Amino acid sequence: MFDNSFALGVSCSALLICIVNLIYTFIQKRTDKTHNKIFVAILCILSINAINGIISGAYGDDVTRSDISFTITQVSRYAYFVTHTALCPLFFYYVCNVSFVSNRMSSLKAKLIFMPFILTELMALTNPLTHLVYKVDSDLKFQRQWGEIFIYLAALLYFVLAFAVFRTSWKFISGKRKPAMVFLFILVAVGVFMQLLDKNLKVEVLFEAVGFTGVMLSVENEDDRIDFGMGFYNRAALNLDIGSSFRHNRKLNLIILKLNNYDLIDRLIGNGETNTIADIISGYLTSHVKRYHIYVSEKNTFVMTLYDKDKESVDKLAEEIAARFEEPWDYKDFSVLFNSTVMVADIPNQIKSASEMFYMLDSPALDDNEKNLLKDEDLNFIMRRRAVEDAISRGFAENSYEVYYQPTFRIDGELHGAEALVRLFDKKLGSLYPDEFIPIAEQSGLIDDIDDFVLEEVCRFLGTGIPQKYNIDHINVNLSVIQCMRPRFVETIDEIVERNGIDKKLINFEITETIAASDYETLSKIIERLKDEGFMFSMDDYGTGYSNMSAVFSLDLDVVKIDKSILWGAEKSELGMVILENTIRMIQQMKKKILVEGVETVDHIKLLKKLQVDYLQGFYFSKPITKEEFIDFISDPLKKEFHIGSI
Ligand code: C2E
Ligand code: CA
Ligand code: CA
Repeated sequence: MFDNSFALGVSCSALLICIVNLIYTFIQKRTDKTHNKIFVAILCILSINAINGIISGAYGDDVTRSDISFTITQVSRYAYFVTHTALCPLFFYYVCNVSFVSNRMSSLKAKLIFMPFILTELMALTNPLTHLVYKVDSDLKFQRQWGEIFIYLAALLYFVLAFAVFRTSWKFISGKRKPAMVFLFILVAVGVFMQLLDKNLKVEVLFEAVGFTGVMLSVENEDDRIDFGMGFYNRAALNLDIGSSFRHNRKLNLIILKLNNYDLIDRLIGNGETNTIADIISGYLTSHVKRYHIYVSEKNTFVMTLYDKDKESVDKLAEEIAARFEEPWDYKDFSVLFNSTVMVADIPNQIKSASEMFYMLDSPALDDNEKNLLKDEDLNFIMRRRAVEDAISRGFAENSYEVYYQPTFRIDGELHGAEALVRLFDKKLGSLYPDEFIPIAEQSGLIDDIDDFVLEEVCRFLGTGIPQKYNIDHINVNLSVIQCMRPRFVETIDEIVERNGIDKKLINFEITETIAASDYETLSKIIERLKDEGFMFSMDDYGTGYSNMSAVFSLDLDVVKIDKSILWGAEKSELGMVILENTIRMIQQMKKKILVEGVETVDHIKLLKKLQVDYLQGFYFSKPITKEEFIDFISDPLKKEFHIGSI
């Protein structure tokens, strides 16, 4: 049905497409990665096969032994079989590479998998002697031999294997790559099927060439994976590639470089030199690690993925990088010194999931870590943080939070109120203290739920009327400043308190002075609004921050809580005493009430009585205790008053 000129046209088109794809690939310089190289090899094979199609189309079956055409068709046919046999195995290898499977295979497994290829390739190569695949009979007619069946079976095997690998990697192949790969599989299958129906069609190579054009435009084109500022792969690419490494149990080492003062240096260098940092860093890193193994996340964090390297060489490289980043960098007229952290960790022993890796990259705790190189045990704190973060989130479902109360007293020893302090009793990690988990909850955005829970609990407790019965003026509830800034903060607080029918003046919110000066206005408005509604406010941990004092005192607060460190410092040195005395005097002049925390001894009480503070809180009276213990405590007249008057 189809004549030679049809096959000729089809083959010419296939050749043209392959050549264009090859040219485009070289112009775009996409030749450095293994899958780039396999891709080029596949295009070359398809080109040779297309040329073979052209030759057989041009000569048809009219060849004579004496003719040059005979030699040409013989050579071309031989080239066709030798190269075409390699096509499907290469395609399989390509899919493995794109989906990071290739290096996972043990060498034995790899050898076994490529056995059918080696055997069939040998058959094709030795065909002039063995005639296992085809022969040319005395009439110069081409005759297929049984060996060809093996070549087809092997091709089918690799095609099916490629598809299986593709299926298991589905999740880690980014959006537009999936349809291109599906399209390729369909085109190859249809092309082969049509050619089986009519061998003169010669459409297989054309279909494959078209399919690989799609691959070139999507899989080989990595624009969506690249961070153009740095020229490295971006965070999305890191997510996919690391996810895929986990999926396929690939072992690798990561070296993470974090430039903690990136923003500062970026600003110092100025707009005209925006590429300075990029130039310095990419120049240095690419001299050690291939560009396509480097990723950049959030501008200041670089991740190098090192496959198939032993721990010593990875550690050595990390040490070298860490040492280099301790030194300044000269760039044009600048000398730039980074504050860096280098971390080395391996997958899957130290880092057990992609999200754990991102947690490590983003961990803000690294900023004030004194070490410049973190490895092995140094990384435990990150794992601990992650475990704590998990405990924080599962705590809500598992009812692991509990509110403890620590009583506060007037200077004359009478009960005054209590501070609500949260505790987390996790099944796995045991008791967790707020000093550890509150900062983590603040960083991960889970603090809102904790603070809402505490307020709810306090409201319920006040709802029983028990605290009021024992003359508790109010219960103090800690607020994170982050929480105050969230939208609908006031509405949420009002909703909880009003739903429980609690008088607002029974609640005293504690806020700390650690807040960026720029947010003072917002904070001040929120406090004013809540105070107008009847709530009370205390300034917590006074003396620990570096805030602008006049701004602190411009906030309309009822009580200032002096931090325990200021009290304890007064015992240790004369200077400490001067600080305590002057702090108290200054707050008194501002006409604010003073509460001192951390009261542990009779001497503390004597001192504070002399200095005429208003309220006391500390282990001398009671540690934070459960609600039940607290009820016992306040209802026991012996415990309630400490007769400070007699001290
Ligand atoms: P804070 O608000 O300064 O709470 C006082 C801390 O000092 C409590 O530690 C308390 O147990 C401790 N303390 C009180 N008196 C003494 C004493 O005489 N000696 C000693 N050594 N310690 C004393 P805790 O309960 O571990 O809380 C630590 C911090 O966690 C709190 O500091 C507060 O900033 C935060 N926190 C606790 N509960 C909450 C909460 O519900 N929400 C928020 N946002 N933060 C909370
Ligand atoms: Ca507090
Ligand atoms: Ca405090």
